[in-house]
Amino acid sequence: MRWSKFLITTLRDDPQEAEIASHKLMLRGGMLRKIAGGLYSFTPLGFRALQKVQRIVREEMNRAGALELLLPALQPIELWETSGRASQMGKSMFRLRDRGDRTMVLGPTHEEVITDYMLHEISSYRQLPCTVYQIQTKFRDEIRPRFGLMRAKEFIMKDAYSFDVSLDAADHSYQAMYDAYVRIFRRCGLRAQPVEADTGTIGGNHSHEFMVLAPSGEDGILFCSACQYAANQERAERQAPPCDYSTPSAEPRTKVATPGAHTVDEAAAAIGCPSDQIVKSLVYLADGKPVMALVRGNAELNECKLRRLLGCSVLEMADPESTAKAAGPFGSIGPVGVSLPVYADFGLKEARDVAVGANEDGFHTAHVNLMDDPDVRIAQWCDIATVTAGDRCPKCGAPLAIERGIEVGHVFKLGTKYTEKFHATYLDDKGQPQTMVMGCYGIGVTRTLQAVVEQNFDDAGIRWPVSVAPFEVVIDLLDPADPACAAIADKLEQDFEAVGVDVLVDDRAERPGVKFKDADLIGFPYRVVVGAKALAKGGVELKNRTTGEIQIVPPDSLVSTVSTHIQKSMPTA
Ligand code: ATP
Ligand code: MG
Repeated sequence: MRWSKFLITTLRDDPQEAEIASHKLMLRGGMLRKIAGGLYSFTPLGFRALQKVQRIVREEMNRAGALELLLPALQPIELWETSGRASQMGKSMFRLRDRGDRTMVLGPTHEEVITDYMLHEISSYRQLPCTVYQIQTKFRDEIRPRFGLMRAKEFIMKDAYSFDVSLDAADHSYQAMYDAYVRIFRRCGLRAQPVEADTGTIGGNHSHEFMVLAPSGEDGILFCSACQYAANQERAERQAPPCDYSTPSAEPRTKVATPGAHTVDEAAAAIGCPSDQIVKSLVYLADGKPVMALVRGNAELNECKLRRLLGCSVLEMADPESTAKAAGPFGSIGPVGVSLPVYADFGLKEARDVAVGANEDGFHTAHVNLMDDPDVRIAQWCDIATVTAGDRCPKCGAPLAIERGIEVGHVFKLGTKYTEKFHATYLDDKGQPQTMVMGCYGIGVTRTLQAVVEQNFDDAGIRWPVSVAPFEVVIDLLDPADPACAAIADKLEQDFEAVGVDVLVDDRAERPGVKFKDADLIGFPYRVVVGAKALAKGGVELKNRTTGEIQIVPPDSLVSTVSTHIQKSMPTA
């Protein structure tokens, strides 16, 4: 393939809109073009890299025994009403009407469609287990599309679904997908770490996310270096921290004027105590019913953990009106004397001398003994605060560390959440109908591609791993008008193609400096320079993009030298 025919436009400067390295580099390297917020076109160059990721995903899914199929992106809303998710998805699901005025959605995911499909396909236990997958476009009206392919409105996902006769059998299907994911990310040249994850609106109890560690990642991940516990901050647990305020105050419970104090810090300043002696009280609506949650003043309430604890499908912060009705004015609420259920973080369990909102604007109540005050009724002590660095590991008690990660894949054990709703049954060996047990498994294919860049770049540009590079080799033909050089480049191009190595010949009439810069920016793993200078030394110049190592190789042995290099550096599963 010739550069002059390949429609590559690189950009000299960082595009304004891009914040993170991989987004900048994919735009500058001419792999991606923005159409509108959260919508991107892949250029011929970018599309090659995308197809390589897809090929790896496909090979490993097939190797794990999954069957590829293709489901429609356009789906009738009725399926979502059957599962109960039509309301849960809210505005993130694109909805439209067809000409017959039927409501349709653009699939954000495919649990509903696949369950409906499988219930018609599967009748007997003899057909199980069965895992199917597709590589397809998904649509989500993200609140904040950003970082290019990382959080887009339209993106490509590989989604797989397993169907089994029992929970035990489903464990095997889950493990097969988990193992396939480990191989996929390794083959893509990614360092990805499985972590325990929240299950979101999908439901079910067991799930892992595959995280690519990178400072730009949107997720916090807590790690224990002592026992290897690793969990997304959305669900990470901790051992209860010791409490500094466990001695009851000599003074009785007292109402204190705190005019204008609506935040923890303002209340602490007004009362004259440290901020962690204040209790943060928050009112939420759990499927519409008000509940109060308490955490220490210097902690954050974790909405994912609270939602899991309550087992509700929608948890939202109560509006000022509902808050006032359930407890008191926004910014001054507290647990004393309220009648709604109060869930308190277990970090407050020993708290016998703390201050809380008085449910009256401009007042707090000091010297509150949460444990023993008859006017404070705690429905449950629970782990609902967000875990941060330094908190104690839930498994072994060692201090946890935090890092940032990009979620590239997610595996769930769903159980019968969908199959029950859809009456997706099979006949067991006694002819009795039983509900199928399901798992679902997603990989953000386009996000994975960009994550590869986020983990593999330097100041000059991208450093593609050979497995997903758009071309493995670029040949910089320095003087296309020189017949001897042109003939060598021609021959090398043919020889590379003959052994299945993807090669691009930079045959543009550009200065060498421009060609070298572009080659580094786009990040081809191997650069071959064909020019009079190297030929005088008896060969062509071969540069390894990752190591920077340069050697002169005779043209005759170049293809075999590079092929050996490629084979050696190809990440194996
Ligand atoms: P996130 O928490 O990042 O919003 P999610 O948990 O909602 O993602 P899943 O429903 O688990 O996503 O989808 C499976 C995979 O699809 C994710 O692991 C991620 O790699 C990818 N993905 C999800 N949303 C997007 C998006 N808006 N743009 C690109 N990829 C996405
Ligand atoms: Mg997820």
